[in-house]
Amino acid sequence: HWPSDTHEFQAETQKLLDIVARSLYSEKEVFIRELISNSSDALEKLRYLQMTANDITDAQTPLEIHIAVDDSKKTFTIQDTGIGMSKEEMIENLGTIARSGSKAFLDKVKDANLSDVNSNIIGQFGVGFYSSFMVSEKVDVYSQSYKPGSPAFKWSSDCHGSYEIAEAEGVQRGTKIVLHLKGDCYDFAKEEVLKEVVKKYSNFVGVPIYLNGKRANIVQALWLMEPKEITSDMHEEFYRYIGNVYDKPRYHFHYKTDAPLNIRALFYVPEYKPTMFDMSRETDVSVTLYSRKVMIMAKANTVLPKWLRFVKGVVDSEDIPLNLSRELLQDSALIRKLRQVLTNRMLKFFTEQAKKDKDRYMDFYHDYGLFFREGIVTTPEQEVREDISKLLRFESSKCAPGEMIGLEEYASRMKAGKRNIFYLSAPSRELAESSPYFEAMKKRDEEVLFLYEAYDELVLMNLGQFDKKFLKSIENEIVDDKEDTDTVDEKDEDSLRQDEAKTLMEWMRGVLGNQVSNIKITKRLVSHPCIITVAEMGSARHFLRTTLADKS
Ligand code: ADP
Ligand code: MG
Repeated sequence: HWPSDTHEFQAETQKLLDIVARSLYSEKEVFIRELISNSSDALEKLRYLQMTANDITDAQTPLEIHIAVDDSKKTFTIQDTGIGMSKEEMIENLGTIARSGSKAFLDKVKDANLSDVNSNIIGQFGVGFYSSFMVSEKVDVYSQSYKPGSPAFKWSSDCHGSYEIAEAEGVQRGTKIVLHLKGDCYDFAKEEVLKEVVKKYSNFVGVPIYLNGKRANIVQALWLMEPKEITSDMHEEFYRYIGNVYDKPRYHFHYKTDAPLNIRALFYVPEYKPTMFDMSRETDVSVTLYSRKVMIMAKANTVLPKWLRFVKGVVDSEDIPLNLSRELLQDSALIRKLRQVLTNRMLKFFTEQAKKDKDRYMDFYHDYGLFFREGIVTTPEQEVREDISKLLRFESSKCAPGEMIGLEEYASRMKAGKRNIFYLSAPSRELAESSPYFEAMKKRDEEVLFLYEAYDELVLMNLGQFDKKFLKSIENEIVDDKEDTDTVDEKDEDSLRQDEAKTLMEWMRGVLGNQVSNIKITKRLVSHPCIITVAEMGSARHFLRTTLADKS
């Protein structure tokens, strides 16, 4: 046996270890993620050294991670064939924690009740390796550095004040970590338990991971591949896997950028029509957040706005640290930026699809268009709201029935100087075209969008403006018509005489009393005898009518 050295942890490290070991109750399993990602880092480093033609111990050993659990011995073992550590590196990397980080951590928790020190705080300070102390009463680390001729060492700690280092024999290149589990953590020695956790955190890690000899991670990280290399079968399989569904994707969107931050995103829109469950605002966003293929968060509600919850997929960003806490995932500037970029790109993507294949887009719009309406009314920024509204489609008085246009197309044919985009809510084209409101606009040769869904009227009212033009219901517009006067056109043979009109208006005023604010003579109608105009809340009328009708 080799003589062993005993080392004390730095004072701060020691205090920190106590806190770490005692405070993570609910998310103990994250130690597996941390150890896997350390192994994966060590393998990446070795891969890099191989490419740069260095002398490497056991150069032929394949790059792999092996996890073994033993329910009788209550041990968890993880072994990699990565870069390994020398004695100095073990002291440096496993015996100390960046001073500033641990100091700040301790300052933060000094006054706090220990039970408040939850996984969030721990996560923020990135104590990856030490997370293994939460579940262990003893941790042994065996490591053989890649440097030829460098001896192997065993590092061992009882997870409290000190650790020992001694030379070791028979260690293969890389690092092997053996956790002797604590009494309340014996579950982590069970293969069934591990299978789920390993799958959850590392399905896409780039090197093979074996659990008790069986391959555990199998799915390729498609989002990191070149779009050209991915076949539609691969997309289909991947979509089914991540979405936990059995149909096909109708759209896929693959996006890569390195500025303003590193993003690799792969999103899918299902072929199936949204279910009641999909429509519910309670439903989470179905996007999983990764950093370098290691899962950070499933159902990452903060990386896309809620109204895009019908999109299924993954986002990977190297800029997001593994240990980012849940709170920071909620509202860090980084996540906000990520959400902003992704929302923007998705809107662009849908706009392109609408141009590229109109029929396909209209099918999608009929199934998923409600989410866009939700987006408009739930987004605070007017600019984004207007971008979403470009995706809406309506029939128009200037188009054949069945043909639908967007606000951009309407705006593009507006005559110079015109400020209003007109719409009319009506249950059908027939009723819209025979409406007295429309008759008046037709006489003026104005294009009118027909809204057959009552909620569209509320959406456009809520939107207010598009491209500096006002969205106006023609039921409102008509209130200030210049053709409303007090005198009849005496030259018109079909018209009432002035005194007849006066008598009629007096009679109507008497009957209607203060139920109307005014009664006037109008010349704007052609075939209708009269028109009722409503100054305020007029556009909500159809909506109320239909909802009340539904209720009764
Ligand atoms: P981080 O991974 O954020 O650096 P950790 O506490 O997880 O912090 O790990 C500390 C350091 O220990 C790593 O940076 C690395 O140098 C070393 N290390 C941990 N695990 C391994 C391993 N399996 N192989 C080689 N080095 C390792
Ligand atoms: Mg780490």
